[in-house]
This record gives sequence, C-alpha cells and structure tokens, in this order.
Amino acid sequence: MRLFDKFRRNPWTAPLLIAGVMATLLAPRSLPAAGAGGAPSGGYPQIQNAPANPPPDQRFKADILVIVAHPDDEPAPYLARAIYDQHKRVAVIFGTPGNGGGDAEGNAQAAALGAIRATEAREAMATFGVLHVWFLCGTDTPGQNVLQSLETWDHGRALGETVRLIRLTRPEVILTWLPVYVAGENHDDHQAAGVIATEAFDLAGDATAFPEQISHPRNRNGIMNLTEGLLPWQPKKIYYFSDALHTDFLEGQGPVYSSADVSPSQHKSYYQLAVEQAAHHLTQGDSGQAAQQALSGGPEYIYAKEPVQLVLGKSLVGGTKTGDVLEGIQPGEVPFAPVQGYRPEPRQGISVELGGPWAYYKLLWKAHNLEHLRDLIKTPEVAVGNGEPVSVPILIHNDTDQAVEVTITCALPAGWKEHSGAGRYPVRPHETYPVEASYNASSTDKPEWQALTWRAESKGQVVGTITLRVMTDSPGLPQ
Ligand SMILES: [Zn+2]
Repeated sequence: MRLFDKFRRNPWTAPLLIAGVMATLLAPRSLPAAGAGGAPSGGYPQIQNAPANPPPDQRFKADILVIVAHPDDEPAPYLARAIYDQHKRVAVIFGTPGNGGGDAEGNAQAAALGAIRATEAREAMATFGVLHVWFLCGTDTPGQNVLQSLETWDHGRALGETVRLIRLTRPEVILTWLPVYVAGENHDDHQAAGVIATEAFDLAGDATAFPEQISHPRNRNGIMNLTEGLLPWQPKKIYYFSDALHTDFLEGQGPVYSSADVSPSQHKSYYQLAVEQAAHHLTQGDSGQAAQQALSGGPEYIYAKEPVQLVLGKSLVGGTKTGDVLEGIQPGEVPFAPVQGYRPEPRQGISVELGGPWAYYKLLWKAHNLEHLRDLIKTPEVAVGNGEPVSVPILIHNDTDQAVEVTITCALPAGWKEHSGAGRYPVRPHETYPVEASYNASSTDKPEWQALTWRAESKGQVVGTITLRVMTDSPGLPQ
C-alpha cells in the first residue's frame, strides 16, 4: 500500500506521523565523545585534501597567434623580430594546407600538394623555433569572393576550431589578413582567415560560444571525457595585413616594420631571416623558389623586402594606433569584451547597393566594432586581368508597401562588354532582388583605374547609384 492511500483511508495517520517525526528531532541527544568512534576534534577523517586544480597548460601559451590562409602567408620579417629580439612566443594557424596552385618543385597536386605544403610550413616555422602550428579544415579556393571560401572551408567547423586554439594558446595578440575587399590579390582564402580570426577574437572569451570546449571533464585522468576542459580567453589586440596592390589606405592605420632592420641578436636583417625561413616553401614559385634563388645569389626575394604594414583592428588595452604590436600588453587576463553584434540596418523607400562580399563586410565591421575598416577603401574597388570576366552583385531593396519596377543601367568605360545587368526589375513589397551584373573588362596597355557606374531609377526618379573602380591589366585571381 502506498503512503498516500494510507493517508486517504485514515485521516489521522498524517498528523500522527508528523508528530512522531518532530518528537524524534526535538528529543535531547548525547553526542558521541570526541575520538570515541565519532568526529575527532579538529576535523573529519573521511574528508581528504583535494589535489590542486591544474592551471592552463603553459607549454602552449602564445604572445602572438598568427591566423592565415596558406603556407607562406605568415609575415616572416615581423615574426623574426618578435621572436628573436622581443622574445615573444608565436603560434600559427593555417586555414588550408595550400592544396591549390601549381607545384614548382614536382608533380604533386591537390591533396598530395597539401600534404607537402603542410610539411613545408612546419619546417619553415621551425626555423624560427615555432613548433605550434595547426591547420583548419579549409581547402584552397582560388577567387576573390570571401563567401565562397567561407563555404568551402566549412565556416562553422573552422570557426569552432579557431576558438578552440585561441583558448588553448591564450594569445595576447592576433595577427591576420585584412577582411576588406581590395584591388590586388584579394584572395578569398586570405579574407576568410581574416573573417574567422575576427569572429574568434570576439567569441573565445564568451562562455556561451562552443561551451563543450570549456566544460570541465568529469575525471581528467579517465577515458571518455567528451568535453574539453579549456578556459575562455579574451585576446587583447587584433591586427590585420593586406594583399592589396596599393598601400596608400594602410598608412597611419598601424605600425610599420622595416625588413631592412638588422636583428641585434642574429646580426642579420629581418629580410635575410625571412628569406631563410621562406626557402622551405619550395613548392611555391613566388615564395619558396624565389627565396631559394635569393639565397643562391639570385634576385632579391621581393615579398620579404617589403615592410610589414599592419592595421590596428582593435585594442582592449589602449595604446596608440601606430605603436608597437605589444604596446600596452601586460601579463594576465582581461575581461570578456562583448561587441555590438548584428543589428538589422533600417532602410526606407527603394535603394540599391553592392551585394555579395561588399554587403557582407559592411555588416561584419559593424557587428564586430570595426567600423573604421569601412573608411579604408572610400570607393569599392576590384582588380582584374585584361579582358577578364567581372561579376558584380547588386541588391535592389524595396522597403515600401507597393510592388515597384526598378530600371538598372550601367555607364561602362570604352572597351567593356556587358553580358547582364541592365534591365527592368520587378520588386515585390519588402523584397530584395539580387542582380548579377557581368562584364568583360577592357584590355589596357598597363594597369589603370576605370570606373563603372550603375544608376537605378523607378517611376522616372533616380533611387540610387553605385560606383565600382576597376584596376585593369592586373595579374591575379579570377574575380
Ligand atoms: Zn596565401
């Protein structure tokens, strides 16, 4: 019989039971004498001292974490200075093994090339004494649209892994590629590295981001611990560098490090140290092979000759924009610094804007408290080869309650050929219509800036214009 049934059959059962319990609790008792089979004076024998909680593994602590896309992306002349003469610990994350592109040393391609380049990268970093080198799950994706690389890299997985490695290495500073669409190489993998580094900078200290990484194991010496036991970590500064053709927009945005300076400890220029480091990337003609030739008395390796010019993304510890990367860095932790995050942009009426990576970056910068990056490139730009295809995504926003028709026309420079773009577009109320405008660039004798301007009209009124400047005759990736 269950107790409830007993109460129901005899209503006196419950009061009697409670009274009995109270009487037992209130009855005077004699405590066992100290040391006579009970608790001894001064403590409880069954409670033992707990072992110390292990601190984060100091072997992996980094001062500078470099997050780049490919082997040979690492800014070697600066890293030589930081490692040899500022005695800083450096770790590196490569987004891909560099499994695309040609093999300047042999016939290996694709996955085999990636296996070789990953080893070359480890050897190159080892010349600087850097042994903590990781690779994300990305695959080399030649192009200029960051959104394509974020897709092929499996963005979520790559971000989770980057957050994990920040929590493991607990860096003071992150160095990465600039997430801005520039005229130049503008490699979409470079920009994906910059996007993921930016996101991870803002997430690694967030205890709700990838919480499985920071959940303590039940028994750290046991098996089957399926949570990771790391701790949140907020890096203090993030700096960017760019692969743009022009560097005017970088001036004054961060520190510049000359590669010609001589290392006081190594008695060689940082250029020379970078050449020796880069010579390990032998499958890459424009870096490893060029560096090897420079070591053999050939032409100088130009990439290592250039100064390393940085853009300060943000600092949580003050300091000046152009001061040293490590300026203001003190040992210890800083609190998690939440950023604004995504906020929908209020819009009214009918409007047009560049879509794809351009539209995405405007949102990214704002969400991550990096709005100053918006001012770096005043007019959107791109670089393409002679006669090469150019694709320009345009968004038509109708934020009215009526369906509208929007006419797009484009003023093209001489020699350009239009395939799509101009037309009359029906746009439903509160709809965004994605237009893909496509062209072939003109051929020019030398690189020159040309401007494409689109005009959007509705009901005879101009509702918006867009200008994109294009650097012609520029070798580089397909746009
Ligand atoms: Zn690269």
